[in-house]
Amino acid sequence: MAMNRITPRQRLDRLPAAAWAAGALGALAALFAFGTNAAAAVLMVLAAAAAYWAMREGRRFDITSSADQIELVGLAELAPLLEALPDPALLVDSESRVVGSNAAARRQMHFEARGQFLTSILRHPDVLEAVQGALREGASRAVEYETPAQVDRHTRCYVAPVTWGADRAAMLVFHDQTSRISTERMRADFLANASHELRTPLASLTLLIETLSGPARDNSADRDRFLGMMQVQADRMRRLIDDLLSLSRIELDEHVPPSDRADLSNVAREVADSLSPVLKERNVTLELRVPDKPVRVVGERFQLAQVVQNLVDNAVKYTPAGGTVTLEVAGSGDREEVSALAGKRWDEAARIALLTPTAAANRSYAYVRVEDSGPGVSKQFLPRLGERFFRVERELGNERGGTGLGLAIVKHIVNRHRGGLLVESQPGRGSAFAAYVELAEEA
Ligand code: ADP
Repeated sequence: MAMNRITPRQRLDRLPAAAWAAGALGALAALFAFGTNAAAAVLMVLAAAAAYWAMREGRRFDITSSADQIELVGLAELAPLLEALPDPALLVDSESRVVGSNAAARRQMHFEARGQFLTSILRHPDVLEAVQGALREGASRAVEYETPAQVDRHTRCYVAPVTWGADRAAMLVFHDQTSRISTERMRADFLANASHELRTPLASLTLLIETLSGPARDNSADRDRFLGMMQVQADRMRRLIDDLLSLSRIELDEHVPPSDRADLSNVAREVADSLSPVLKERNVTLELRVPDKPVRVVGERFQLAQVVQNLVDNAVKYTPAGGTVTLEVAGSGDREEVSALAGKRWDEAARIALLTPTAAANRSYAYVRVEDSGPGVSKQFLPRLGERFFRVERELGNERGGTGLGLAIVKHIVNRHRGGLLVESQPGRGSAFAAYVELAEEA
C-alpha cells in the first residue's frame, strides 16, 4: 500500500540475507565468465537467475515480510492530522516508539528525532501505563499529572488506541490545565484572604456609623472627625480590593512568560516622575541612577512599572522625612554577577534571595535596585517578605495600614518574568530591594 514511499536506500536495507548471498554468487559467476569453458557459461546462467531472484525477493519483502516497517510508513501518513491539532500530540507504535508528532509537541517536549522511545521524552508512570492499556487492551484514558517548575504545570493527557491495518498504535494529546487549576486555587484563596482582610475596616466603618447616628450625631466636631476616620477605612478597603484584583490578574498568567520588550531605564524614569508630589509632601529626596541609553529587557512594560512603583512606594513610606531613596537601573552580567552587584552592597547587612530564576545560569540580566534610609527589616522577617498579607508592623503590634500585598505583587510579576528578587537590610541603615529580569538580545 505504501510502496511508493519506500526509498531505494530502504529497499536495500530490507533485502534478506539469502538475497544478498544470491547476489554475491552472481558476482562470483561473472568473474568466472571471463574464462571460456562450459562451466563458466553454466555459472553465468546461474548468476542471472540469482540476481533476478534477489530482486524479486527484495520487492516481495517490502510488501509482506516486514509488518513492522510497513506499519511505520503507514502511521507516518497520520502525521498531517496531528499537525493540525493545536495541543501537543504524539503517535506511538506498538513498541512505544514515537512515530508521529506535531510542532506543539516537539516545541514543548524538546525532542527532534522520530523513532525515539516515548520513555525517553516522558516519564510519568500513569501516562506510560495508559499507553500500554491503549496498545494492549484498546482502552482510552485521561491522565492528569503535575510537572514541577518555577511555576508548576498541570497537564491532562488523553490516551486513545488507534488501529492501523493489523497493528495498534496509541495517540496522546496533551491539554494544559495550569490556568484552570490556578484559577480554582486562586478563587478559594481570594475569598478566604479577602474576606478576612476586609472585615477589619468594615467593622470599623460599622462602629463609626453607629457612633455617628447615636452619640456623635449633634456634635459637629465629632462628626467631622468620625467622617475623616470613615474616609481612611474606605480608602483602605479600596486599596485592598485594587491590590487583590491586581494580584489575581498577575497570577492568572504567571505561567506564561512575557515575550514583549521594555526599556527598564525609561520605566524607572516615568515612575520617578509620577512620584514627585508624594516625595515633596513627605520631604524625601529621590536619587535617580539610570543610564542614558535604553536598558532593553524581556518584559511587559506595565508590569515592570508596577514592580518599580511598589518598591519605591515602600521605600518612600519607610524613609523618615529628610531621608533619601535611591533608584538605580543597570544591565549586564549573569545571575551570579547581577546578584553580587545588586544585592550585596552593605557589609553588615542581612540578605536573602526572595526569588531565584531557574533558567540556565548563563543568561544575562538587568536589575533595578531601590535603596532607602528607613528602619530596615530585621533578619528574622526577611524570608516572609512577599508573603501575601505579611506585615512586619502587624507582627510587632503596631499596624500602619498597608495592605501587605505590594511585595507579593512584585514577587509574582518577577516570577512571571522568570527573574530574581533580592533584599538586604541593615537596621539603622535601611533596606534595599533589587529585582532583575533577562536582558533582551540586541537586534
Ligand atoms: P505594605 O502595603 O504593608 O507596604 P508590602 O507587601 O509592600 O505591603 O510590604 C510588606 C511588609 O514588608 C511591610 O508591611 C513592611 O513591614 C515590610 N517592608 C516592605 N518594604 C519595606 C521597606 N522599604 N522598609 C521597611 N520595611 C519594609
